[in-house]
Amino acid sequence: MDGHYEVIVIGTGAGGGTLARHLAPSGKRILLLERGDWLPREPENWSTVDVFVDGRYISPDSWYDPKGKSFYQPQVHYFVGGATKLYGAALYRMRAEDFGELRHHDGISPAWPISYQDMEPYYTAAETMYQVHGARGEDPTDPPASAPYPHPAVSHEPRIQQLSDDLAAAGLHPFHAPCGILVDETNMPYSICVRCADCDGFPRTCRSQRTGSPSDRTAPCTWRTRRATPPPPSGCTTSSIRCWARSACTPATWLTGSRT
Ligand SMILES: Cc1cc2nc3c(=O)[nH]c(=O)nc-3n(C[C@H](O)[C@H](O)[C@H](O)COP(=O)(O)OP(=O)(O)OC[C@H]3O[C@@H](n4cnc5c(N)ncnc54)[C@H](O)[C@@H]3O)c2cc1C
Repeated sequence: MDGHYEVIVIGTGAGGGTLARHLAPSGKRILLLERGDWLPREPENWSTVDVFVDGRYISPDSWYDPKGKSFYQPQVHYFVGGATKLYGAALYRMRAEDFGELRHHDGISPAWPISYQDMEPYYTAAETMYQVHGARGEDPTDPPASAPYPHPAVSHEPRIQQLSDDLAAAGLHPFHAPCGILVDETNMPYSICVRCADCDGFPRTCRSQRTGSPSDRTAPCTWRTRRATPPPPSGCTTSSIRCWARSACTPATWLTGSRT
């Protein structure tokens, strides 16, 4: 981990990974520091009992009160990619009013120093980066957006479609959840995502991705194959982004496809 860096990003989840990806084309020397290891690819990745009952990929960390008593298990995931290695890829924007002062059951959440309008261009950019599928305007609570979703909404399963039709007939407003998955319903034989059942909460790769996950080497700090991964920026092989994971005695070069 020698050398000098102009930007050091701590943590490689949705926050750190997205920031690093956004900064990559700047040509700055960027270091990603990650306390976790590479998430192992193993049969337990798809085991409901291992993943959800035994919490195989959840850190045993606790939060402690001022008296040193453990009071909460925050269920964090210390891996290259953070919780985004397991997340469900539903990518909602915050509502415009979320940025203002909000009264909750337990108290008041103060207003943010920035507004939804300030964030809007970044939401649009992120939806492009994560190839979000959705139908703008369906959700009556959706905040205003400067662009349509980059991809059409993922179609409902038959039972969900029936439910959606029934809810609409009752005067309600069901909508398609915006999803950052790599599905191409117009060309399913070539679609990366095959709409399998073990997605949200299961770590890492699709079952259909039988070989090692290339996205983990080309973009180790982000997501797995069925979920949208930011494409390498042009000229990335010369941009110097390095990801230093706990077990790696040598840094892994991000986006160049090689671990050195
Ligand atoms: C099962 C599951 C499903 C989810 N589904 C969705 C969904 O569908 N849609 C949605 O919007 N959200 C979803 N979420 C929530 C979403 O995944 C998180 O909000 C998001 O990943 C948080 O990103 P982050 O970068 O803030 O944190 P994380 O992804 O947790 O990343 C933080 C990173 O920092 C590292 N780190 C921590 N401390 C240090 C340190 N001292 N030094 C170096 N590195 C450190 C951690 O190891 C980790 O890699 C889901 C979460 C889970 C667990």
